Order: sequence, then C-alpha cells, then structure tokens
Amino acid sequence: MSQDAIFTSKRVLLSSASEVGPATIYVSQGKVARIEPEYLPAGATIDAGSKLLMAGVVDSHVHINQPGRTQWEGVVTASHAAASGGVTTIIDMPLNCIPSTVTVPAYEQKRTSFAGGMWVDVGTWGGVVPGNASSLVPMLAEGARGFKCFLCDSGVDEFPPVNEEQLRLAMAELQREQGMLMFHAEMETGATVNAAEDPTDYATFLNSRPPAMEVKAIDLVVKVCREFGTVPCHIVHLSAADALPAIRAAKAEGLPLTVETCFHYLTITAEEVPTCSTEYKCCPPIRGQSNRDLLWEAVLDGTIDFVVSDHSPCTPDLKLHPCCGGKIAHGATEGDFVSAWGGIASVGIGLPLLWTEGKRRGLGLQDVARLVCERTAKHAGLSDRKGRIAIGLDADFVVWDPEENNRIDAEKLHFRNKLTPYHERTCQGLIHRTIVRGTAVYDISQINDNDTWESGFSRVAHGQWLDSAISRRD
Ligand SMILES: [Zn+2]
Repeated sequence: MSQDAIFTSKRVLLSSASEVGPATIYVSQGKVARIEPEYLPAGATIDAGSKLLMAGVVDSHVHINQPGRTQWEGVVTASHAAASGGVTTIIDMPLNCIPSTVTVPAYEQKRTSFAGGMWVDVGTWGGVVPGNASSLVPMLAEGARGFKCFLCDSGVDEFPPVNEEQLRLAMAELQREQGMLMFHAEMETGATVNAAEDPTDYATFLNSRPPAMEVKAIDLVVKVCREFGTVPCHIVHLSAADALPAIRAAKAEGLPLTVETCFHYLTITAEEVPTCSTEYKCCPPIRGQSNRDLLWEAVLDGTIDFVVSDHSPCTPDLKLHPCCGGKIAHGATEGDFVSAWGGIASVGIGLPLLWTEGKRRGLGLQDVARLVCERTAKHAGLSDRKGRIAIGLDADFVVWDPEENNRIDAEKLHFRNKLTPYHERTCQGLIHRTIVRGTAVYDISQINDNDTWESGFSRVAHGQWLDSAISRRD
C-alpha cells in the first residue's frame, strides 16, 4: 500500500464535466482523500507545474496473450507499455492466450500467471465459445468483467465462434446476472480474396473484408439485444461507418447497446497503407478516408461511446513482415496481407494519437477524458474506482503535456514485438508520469536513473488484479 502523497498542478482535469484549472490532490491509502482547487507546490510529492494532470487512461481492449503465447506479448511488457503511455488500467481479452479465458480454471490460471508482473492494474474479460454457457456466471463471480464472443472465425482454433443458437444460450445465462456480452461484429457474406490480385497490395485484403460483413453482424447484435432486453451488448472495434445508421437507431430505441472504435480507425486510412506493410493489418480492416470522417462524426456526436487500442501483436514472422529477413515460414510470401496475422500493436500510444487527430476536428480535453478514461472504466464495471479524479476513487493519474511534440520510435516502445504502424509518426502530447493508486510507476525523467528506477519504470510492479467486484452494470 502506498504512503500518503500529494499531487499538484496548475492544470488539472478532474473529469469530463470539469474545466482545466489548478488543483492539489491529497492521496491516502491509494485513494483520493481531498482536493483543493489551488496550485500548492510546497510539500507536494509530485509538482506537475503546468503539465496536465488527469485520470489515468483505462484501456478496456488489450490482448496480453499470457499464458500460452507470451512470445507475442506478456503482462510485464504490456503493462510497461501501458504505464509509459499514461494507461493505468488494462483489461485483457480472453483469446490468443492458451488456454482461452473461457472457464473458471483458465481464469485462475491467468490470474496466477500475472501475479507480480503487473505495472498497472489489470483485469480480464471472459469468452463465450460453443459449450461454455454454464461457466459464465461462475466466471463473473470470480471477477471476469464481462464476456466476448466471435460471430466469424477468430483466427485461433481455441476460440471458435458461436452460432445464433449458442449465442442465445449464453445470453440467457448472462441475463441472470446482467453480465455484458461483447461482439466481434463481422459475419461471412461470401466475400473472398480475389486470387488474381496481388496479396502484398493492401486493397486485396481490404476488398475481402467489406463493410457488409460488419453490417450483417451488427444487425444480428441489435436483434438479440432487443430480444433479451436486459443483457448489455457491446460492439468492439467498429470500423465500418455503414453500420452507424443501425447503431443510431438501436440507441434511439433505448436498447442497452454500446460501441467502441480504435485509435487506428481514427488515425490511419487505407489510402496511406504502404505495399507489404502488414503491421497495418487488422480485422475488421482500416478503411478509406471518407469512412474515417464518418467515424469521427460518430465519436463527436456520441454514437461511438469510447476509444480503445485493441492492442494485438504477434511475432514478426507471423506478420510475414519484410523486416524478418527470410525468417518467415517456407512458402509464405513476404508482405502478404491476406496470410499475415491480423492485429495492431499500440497499447500506451493512443492518448497522443487520439488527441492530435481529434483536436483538429474539434475534440476537447474533456472529450478525451470521456472517451479513454470515464467511459472505458464504466464499460469494465469500474466507474466506482477509476476513470475520474474524485474523492474515494483510486488515485490513478497521468501527467502529460498536450502541446509537446512526440515522435514515436518503434525501438523505444515497450511492448514485446515492436512492429507498429505508428513508427516515426509525430504527434502532440508527451507522457511524463503515470501514477497507479498514488504510486508513480513511470517517470520519463528517470529513464537514465538505474538505481531506484529501471528505464523510467518503478522497480516494483504496483499493479493489482481487478477481480474484487462482480461487473454489474450501473
Ligand atoms: Zn481485440
């Protein structure tokens, strides 16, 4: 448990409903105990000066892949990357690790595997797969934040998709405890890869995953959401703007439906993806400029509830990436978008990316706090602990300079496999410090101090496993 600490800044943003202004925050037992609306540097544990101090980012969509595929990503590297980007809470996805998090023993195995390796607070979602309906309520009781399912092939054999009948069985179980169900919303429409096209050309892959796949799946999500009425349904990583009318109609009808999109759909367009650059591949795919503009409209008008990373890395050989220099599997084509593993690595770099692109579209700092802190905390059932700075909540903060230039260099990123489409991108917003429950876990000024710090990180992992409360909706 951290000692009492005092944080002060001339620029504090307590929540999306407040203005930026001076404040001093007193922390006791890892929680915010008192807030004074003044800048009081004398006696402060951390004096942020004129840097912005706001609630730590909650990234509710991260694939940590441990246990089982820790060579893709592990909890130490993922939580370091999170901490370096002002992210104080990450919620793990139930697939790509082995075993998939679809039973109570698998949940316990993950919790045990993460012990001692969490630099930020970590929780996990469970998975819905064919045949595990009876495990769902017990997993909620253990602390799973909710559940995710696929309506098409997930990319890994251990996490098969559910059909409509299996979906209904799961939803009937979740209805007993108001457990949330999240959907990877793509369904087969018969679209296929045109073998006559060059697989190293991004358009070949893009054309094989048309917006209609998302629209079809989202129509089904809306249908079952209406049918069950009280099971909160959530669409992960929306890419296709074509689905926005159905989402707007469902929300207008009052259905318990929420939607997220990802940093990459808002900051990258299909037109700019270079040939062979498989680090840009994910499912659903990054689409064109006009699609991105429509997603931004939906972010700004509140149709899209929040923004996450969907950090989903793998080893470079599976990306069939040209940087692998011949280490890719025999017979594979270097830079083949169609065969490469889909997933974009970005945990801990989203805040400045969103801010930089957003502010030229009218996004304010309050919107940022809403989109990446408050709404994601609420989504994970953590709004009574995280996402805002308020008395009684966890003292999770990020200290950053929204005006400072930040040039992303893949070599300096902290996730295990550093292939990312953001290499060499310059944005505004540099993270200086990250504080988890009152304790600094990352400090950019300590990168070269290796006595009490290690490359800018605290030597001790202060993160906690988040399973204290059943993820009931509020
Ligand atoms: Zn994902």
